[in-house]
Amino acid sequence: MVVTQSIHSDIQEIIITAEEIQKRVAELGKAISMDYEGKDPLLVGVLRGAVVFLADLIRHITIPVSYDFVAISSYGADTKTTGVVRIIKDLDESIQSRHVIIVEDIVDTGLTLNYILKMVKARNPASVRVCALLDKPARRRVPVEIHYLGFTIPDVFVVGYGLDFAQHYRNLPYVGVLRPEIYAGG
Ligand code: IMP
Repeated sequence: MVVTQSIHSDIQEIIITAEEIQKRVAELGKAISMDYEGKDPLLVGVLRGAVVFLADLIRHITIPVSYDFVAISSYGADTKTTGVVRIIKDLDESIQSRHVIIVEDIVDTGLTLNYILKMVKARNPASVRVCALLDKPARRRVPVEIHYLGFTIPDVFVVGYGLDFAQHYRNLPYVGVLRPEIYAGG
């Protein structure tokens, strides 16, 4: 893989602009603030992809809120799902009797989210909801309910705003598609 001088030049097409993302994230933050008033929710970010989204989202939440992280692995430096889900980092805090909102970058096959939902629900939280920036319903293998959704996208591999290809491009402020020669190894 080749990472060129400017990450922007590796992008073939911008699917969701930085402005569109910021507007939608503000709306999601507002909705969560209204729905969870008096509930002090715990946002559970799924590392590493959800970091950028969660960081922006919490700054649009106007009620008391805290956050924690889990890390799950289901992909290598590859763009295809293996279906293998494994926990790398568990939550630091107890979620018993807490109102949990799982924050994901993208729901693709749904396998990752399905696994996390099972794990969270087994720990007796007061409630569990899902907030995802992107949904790729075409590739779903397990049905999952997304309560707060940023955008639905077609079946394309995207990078940016936390999403990576081989750990790069997470720092793009927009969501885009890489030029095909990048996947092919330069
Ligand atoms: P799922 O288990 O197939 O739903 O996969 C969810 C995870 O796969 C996400 O949290 C991402 O890390 C990764 N993923 C799925 N689709 C994409 C994509 O288009 N770009 C980058 N990462 C993706």
